[in-house]
Amino acid sequence: MAHDERMTKDFVRDIVDAHLASGRFGQRVHTRFPPEPNGYLHIGHAKSIVLNFGIAEEYGGKCNVRFDDTNPVREEEEFVDSILEDVRWLGYDWEDRLFYASDYFDQLYEWAVDLIRKGWAYVDDQTVDEIRAQRGDLTTPGTLSPFRDRSVDENLDLFARMRAGEFAEGERVLRAKVDMSHPNMNMRDPIMYRVLHATHHNTGDRWCIYPSYDWAHGQSDSIEGITQSICTLEFENHRPLYDWLLDRLGVHHPQQIEFARLNISYTVLSKRRLRQMVEDGLVSGWDDPRMPTLRGMRRRGYPPAALRDFLSRIGVAKVNSTIAFETLEHSIRDHLNRTARRFMGVLDPLPVTIENLPADLDDTMDFAVNPEDPGAGTRAIPFSADLVIERDDFMEDPPKGFHRLAPGREVRLRNAYLATCTEVVRDGSEVTGLVCRVDPGSRGGNAPDGRRVKGTIHWVSVPHAVEAEVRLFDRLFTVEDPMAGDGDFMSYINPDSLVVRKGCKVEPAVTGIGPGETFQFERLGYFCVDPDTTDGHLVINRTITLRDTWARIRGER
Ligand code: ATP
Ligand code: MG
Repeated sequence: MAHDERMTKDFVRDIVDAHLASGRFGQRVHTRFPPEPNGYLHIGHAKSIVLNFGIAEEYGGKCNVRFDDTNPVREEEEFVDSILEDVRWLGYDWEDRLFYASDYFDQLYEWAVDLIRKGWAYVDDQTVDEIRAQRGDLTTPGTLSPFRDRSVDENLDLFARMRAGEFAEGERVLRAKVDMSHPNMNMRDPIMYRVLHATHHNTGDRWCIYPSYDWAHGQSDSIEGITQSICTLEFENHRPLYDWLLDRLGVHHPQQIEFARLNISYTVLSKRRLRQMVEDGLVSGWDDPRMPTLRGMRRRGYPPAALRDFLSRIGVAKVNSTIAFETLEHSIRDHLNRTARRFMGVLDPLPVTIENLPADLDDTMDFAVNPEDPGAGTRAIPFSADLVIERDDFMEDPPKGFHRLAPGREVRLRNAYLATCTEVVRDGSEVTGLVCRVDPGSRGGNAPDGRRVKGTIHWVSVPHAVEAEVRLFDRLFTVEDPMAGDGDFMSYINPDSLVVRKGCKVEPAVTGIGPGETFQFERLGYFCVDPDTTDGHLVINRTITLRDTWARIRGER
């Protein structure tokens, strides 16, 4: 499938172009998305997905999904399924190219033996802590391990016995023999294998030695014939090791390319921290609509096409930066404005009786399905003399500039009638309802004499209405960078990030809206039906408001 939201050229694509021009990989373009199955995907991962699959699509190449499942302790099967579902939801298809790094354990083992034979790897009897203490630092070279000059035969024997399970965890490791005084710390004889007596979700108990990231990743890329191995900037100083290992093996050698990871203000993009928020009960789960996870965004009602558009628009950079949350919201609004069907709902109902229409009136009013998309046609919304309007669309004593309903004032009931408030019903000081009189000649919402009416308000017909619980979301944190403060990032959670409104009234057609469709409630914003909905209880999420209310608060509007 080719998406129309093409990224403009960036430095990654420039490198691909150069490879095609030089013929380094023939005319092949083959990328991969390599998630670790230890959590749910967030929008940072989506950036990597859109980049890798996007490049494959644009160049007529291929993109694999490869689970980086080399750590048997942290990974869970549950995450494998959810990650695949999320990639598919984003709109990408790996066809028959779903792989696991653990599928390559045999090949990786053989290649390790090969490096030992060539004198490029050795078994070290020291603990990981001892090895770390000998690494030196940027100004001091590391200390050579006393086991560094073991014979090839002894290394082969010890490595085979590591594999056979003769040693306890921590007793021995396999290290690459690179250079203990290399200015790049990753080159100071990095660890290739550790002993771990753990059951792996894919290989069971077949292995008790597990490869390190550096040993598994590049070699897996090579096995799959990857051409461009795209990763985030933290791996830039792993590239010399990536190249060193593949050069020593003399096998297919992809190009590692690093780009800046996505950061977004007012949220955190790290599986570990998101997990902490779930475990501490600060959110309802990984799919809480406030979470920056793909599950959360999906439940929130963000359309996948809008996310692809956002991720394409922000581009790919070589320097880390933070994208404003508003930029994401802009893409969501822009997409929904063009595509969302319009409905009527009232979140904070104030009853209105129309005194000059029959009490048993059962009428309908025509609305455009989407004014931005005339081809979508019109739709009838039930109308009667017994309505609700939004409580804040009425003021008894309105200040200047308030153009909505007030005693004696005429407004337009959207697409229905011009109506004048003739009476305020109250219980003590509380306004409990209004009585209005409509201009019978204004049916459809236009004045017969062309007189101007400033305010237009939305409404729902009470006898036809369905009651709903509506959940209003706001940004999850109160500060731009929750990680930058002195306190724990979780202390910056926005206490108002979830507001639940009960007793809302919506037009009946809303019950027919399926999961995955985000719609507009006129004048209120974009919404979707939440999966918590049951037969008798409609639950609706607000995806996003119509305008950026934060910009208004800051006086930018
Ligand atoms: P986290 O820090 O959230 O745990 P990770 O990098 O450990 O993320 P992986 O499952 O290893 O998660 O990542 C899969 C791919 O997604 C990798 O190629 C990684 O570089 C990329 N990726 C992860 N986070 C981001 C991000 N914020 N922006 C862009 N790419 C990302
Ligand atoms: Mg990782």
